[in-house]
Order: sequence, then structure tokens, then C-alpha cells
Amino acid sequence: MKQYDYLIVGAGLYGAVFAERAKSAGKKCLVIDRRDHIAGNVYTYEQAGINVHKYGPHVFHTNDTEVWEYVSRFTKFYNFKLGTIANYKGEIYSLPFNMYTFNRMWGVLTPEEAEAKIAAQRDAAGITEPKNLEEQAISLVGTDIYEKLIKGYTEKQWGRPCKELPAFIIKRLPVRFTYDNNYFNALYQGIPVGGYTQMVANMLEGIEVRLGVDYLEHKAELDALAEKVVYTGPIDAYFGYRLGALEYRSVRFEVEELDKPSYQGNAIVNYTDRDTPYTRIIEHKWFEQGSGDAGKTVISREYSAEWKPGDEPYYPVNDEKNGALYKQYKALAEREQNVLFGGRLGEYKYYDMDQVIRAALDAAAQ
Ligand code: UDP
Repeated sequence: MKQYDYLIVGAGLYGAVFAERAKSAGKKCLVIDRRDHIAGNVYTYEQAGINVHKYGPHVFHTNDTEVWEYVSRFTKFYNFKLGTIANYKGEIYSLPFNMYTFNRMWGVLTPEEAEAKIAAQRDAAGITEPKNLEEQAISLVGTDIYEKLIKGYTEKQWGRPCKELPAFIIKRLPVRFTYDNNYFNALYQGIPVGGYTQMVANMLEGIEVRLGVDYLEHKAELDALAEKVVYTGPIDAYFGYRLGALEYRSVRFEVEELDKPSYQGNAIVNYTDRDTPYTRIIEHKWFEQGSGDAGKTVISREYSAEWKPGDEPYYPVNDEKNGALYKQYKALAEREQNVLFGGRLGEYKYYDMDQVIRAALDAAAQ
């Protein structure tokens, strides 16, 4: 008999949800994380009384009632609706694409006028079946919006021409012919009161967690502790990159605390031109109805970068080359006895938070 039923590698959402479910089923779990904190990339810390999203802004949204009810056991939520703003060379547009955007771009007033404008631009570009992100974007919203609000931002974010990126990335963004700038078409949406770290801490309550422990460095001795391993780190790192490294995009944040009550009046402003070096500025207090110390605000400028070993991996690059390599790693993973690979890095998948929770709930139920 080993000391633990599960060794869970990674204290992010997948690991925390799996551990919580396993514990409630009577299993003994040990959760470890390489970092000195829990909550993975949803980690928040407090600065000037504001919960700062250290690894980028996270807005919880889901259509999955079971997932919503599950997370609601661990936190209350601010009733937050994300309305992002795009700043293109000083022109302000509403995101995601909706009637406010179309009105600002073309002066159109009705859905019919907007649809006609987009159809004309799509026809002029001669796109019938979109094969890449550029063609997909133009066929969804036309060339003007593509040029001003998509091309520069996407190429900064992904470091690749839009023609070489998969179409599905842009399908994450809704296109609406209504005056509704709520970013997500979601039944449930919110920001955890007290921050994501507190929510994850509540999930992990009563479960042993060891921080600053690198699993791959101490694999043999850690494996000896548990019957099964749930691994949420990068799948290629697990196999010592033996088939080559999967590519990621990384991001870097410059955080600044300012002595003013508001910097930009919105949680997220995207800079969609090519020349501004950062992709967006996050003003954290606006996720929480402006809470925090009086007269203070904290902003993060987000810079996108190519990932290299040693950097934090953020976004899997789900193109054909990486997809094919992942498949090979997945085949190796399936042959690995008593190890479950899960989460964004373990499954090399551009997961939203609710999808990761759903995946962990399903895995733990098996
Ligand atoms: N996107 C864009 N312009 C914007 C915001 C997003 O072109 O102002 C595109 C970009 O290609 C991005 C994709 O839409 O990769 C998905 O955006 P989302 O906001 O879902 O990205 P995330 O929040 O995951 O970084």
C-alpha cells in the first residue's frame, strides 16, 4: 500500500478540481506544484487592495450548469460582464464585434445595413470556404474590421501571419448583429469575490499541498508515494521532449501601480494596431466593480512572445505541425501505466476555465 491514492502534479484548476473530487470520494491525495503558489495560471494576488490576475485576465463564463454549481460551492461571484474595448490608433471600438462596432466603423444603424456591408466585403475578397484565420475573419466581419481590429492584434499575439493560423481561433469571438457588447454568450459569468486563488484554496481545503516541488526532477521518489499520478504539466516535458518540443506562445506582463482612481475606465483595452508593442492593458480593479484602495489602481501591459524552454507556456499553438506532434505524445501517454494527463498543458489544448473544470470532473468520475 502506498501512502497516497493520487499524486496530483499541478495545483491549477484541473489539479485542484480532480483532487477535490477524489478527496470527496474518500481518496488520499497529494498535490504538488513547481511554483511557490497554488491556482496555476488563474492565480491572483492582492496589491493595493485589488486582486491582480498575475498570468493574464480570467473571466469565468460557462453554459454548463453543473460546472457553475460546482464552482459556486467554492466562491461567490461578482456579477461581471466583460465588454472589451479596442483602441486602433486612438479610435475606440466595441468588442466583441457588434452593432456598436459596425456603427463606429461604417456609420450603419441597423443589422441589415451591417450584414450587407460585411457581405459586400466578403464577396469582394472572393472567399467561399475559409481556409485560415485571415479568410475566416474576413468572411465573418469583412476586410475593414479585419484590417483594423484583427490583423495587427492577432499577429502580435501569435507571432505568425494570419494566413498561417487556424481559422478556429477567431471563432472564439462572437459576431452579433445586436447592440450587445457582452464578450461571452454565456448563461453564467462572473469573477470570484476574493480572487481565484481563494477559490482554488477552498477547493484544496484539507488536501496536502507541497509547493516549490519539481515533479520531473524528483519523479522516481514522488511516483513511489502514490498509486496513480495525475499530471497537468506539459506533456512533452514529461517525455523529456524526446520527439521534439511542442510550441507555445508566452506572454509577459509589466505591472504598474498608479496613484489615480482610474487609468482607462475598463478592465481590458486591446491595442489592435501593429506598432503598439503590447497587445492589451488590463486594469484589474474593473473586474471587481472598482474595488481596492482609494485613489489607487493597478494595470498590466501584456506583451506576447514566442515561447522557449524555461519560459511559462501559455497558449498551445494548435497548428497542423504541433497537432501532429501532440498526437505522437498522446500515443506515448496512453501507454503510460497509472498516469492520467490532464489540463491545458497535459492535453496541449486551448481550454477555457469551465472546459478544464468539466474535463477534471469527468476524469475524476471515472
Ligand atoms: N482577436 C482579435 N482582436 C481582438 C481580440 C481578439 O483579432 O481585439 C482575435 C485574436 O486572434 C485572438 C482571438 O481573437 O487570438 C481570440 O481572442 P480571445 O479574446 O478569445 O483570446 P484570449 O482571451 O484567450 O487571449
